[in-house]
Amino acid sequence: MTSTPNREGAVPVTAAHRILVLNSGSSSVKYQLLDMRDSSRLAVGLVERIGEETSRLVHSPLTGDGDGGGEGSGKRERTGPIADHEAALKAVADELTRDRLGLDSPELAAIGHRVVHGGLKFSAPTVITDEVLTEIERLVPVAPLHNPANITGIRTAQALRPDLPQVAVFDTAFHTTMPESAARYAIDIETADAHRIRRYGFHGTSHAFVSRETAKLLGKDPSEVNVIVLHLGNGASASAVRGGECVDTSMGLTPLEGLVMGTRSGDIDPAVTFHLKRVAGMSTDEIDVLLNKKSGLVGLCGDNDMREIRRRIDEGDQRALLAFEIYIHRLKKYIGAYYAVLGRVDAVVFTAGVGENAAPVRAAAIAGLEELGLAVDADLNAVRTDSARLISPEYARVAVAVVPTDEELEIARQTYALVNA
Ligand code: ADP
Repeated sequence: MTSTPNREGAVPVTAAHRILVLNSGSSSVKYQLLDMRDSSRLAVGLVERIGEETSRLVHSPLTGDGDGGGEGSGKRERTGPIADHEAALKAVADELTRDRLGLDSPELAAIGHRVVHGGLKFSAPTVITDEVLTEIERLVPVAPLHNPANITGIRTAQALRPDLPQVAVFDTAFHTTMPESAARYAIDIETADAHRIRRYGFHGTSHAFVSRETAKLLGKDPSEVNVIVLHLGNGASASAVRGGECVDTSMGLTPLEGLVMGTRSGDIDPAVTFHLKRVAGMSTDEIDVLLNKKSGLVGLCGDNDMREIRRRIDEGDQRALLAFEIYIHRLKKYIGAYYAVLGRVDAVVFTAGVGENAAPVRAAAIAGLEELGLAVDADLNAVRTDSARLISPEYARVAVAVVPTDEELEIARQTYALVNA
């Protein structure tokens, strides 16, 4: 990469300081361009419904004011067919060029790709080579929905800028520190190893970012604190982080395990699947769809948006209330389990769409845990802000916090650190 000595000739000043972060899904690409000198965003956007007639690109150049950048007034939208990922990325490149932020700029240091499954092999961000791509491909059987889209995104970006370092940042990487006692299922060990069946965990970039930011909020080094992170988005996962290292997490071989989610069941007796097959006559694919897409909050009450569920509860809707109670019950079980795993807990932290915004979820999950040193202050919990904050009363032994996650910034940081190493 390009770097020049500064005036004193001692510390290299990097000329290339921008990172493009790409999150490629099966029919969408989300992107952010960041300036790593101050971690500000220069542009954000997404292309959705790729391959359909009604594809849509939304692009926002931002002010880059050093605090993350505010939504610029220049938001641009276009709809119309975008055939594939290659066309999508070209359209993104055109938008960036219009803002003089083109992919051909010497200021672009690298492209950081979110890759969902890195298996056991990738415990850190990795510069993408042919061998690395082959390995990501080898993991498709354990991440059939995600890794193929990630691979397409990488290939397309490589074609556009073959000379530029492309870095894979894995959702699973943060969890590779889990001990075998947490990572292994208690099934026949040879069968498990033959098929790489174990708990990998996901949302790792978020758990890494949020646990570190929580330590910062407490004025401590990550190595000094034990944190329970509750990433509650549409997908949801919990993790137990001891001294900056993940020691347990709720998602497993796939993102299906663990907490009740927007559309996923989370933990379930595996015999339910045999029963559905033998008694209900469902196929494996049908069961897959049932548990991943038609379960969780949506399966229980027809809605997966916590705002809507709360609205229905306020109107006295009993199904919405039951869904909420099942969601909270599971959450509480994980808080208790990870408390026991960690032994000493310094903070329980809520993040992602539900965790950052749904005060009733935070209040209900912590309610009744005073004996564990956990409590939520109602006034602090009601405050609406985008900043990391404590919501526990001063007397509480364990901090309860809300810390907004920022997976794109974390991917950009890891990518930039790697290409500058
Ligand atoms: P993902 O990245 O998994 O798609 P997000 O972290 O963006 O999800 O979270 C999306 C979810 O956050 C929504 O489905 C909704 O349930 C919840 N959410 C967003 N805003 C609010 C809000 N103001 N109040 C309650 N829940 C919210």
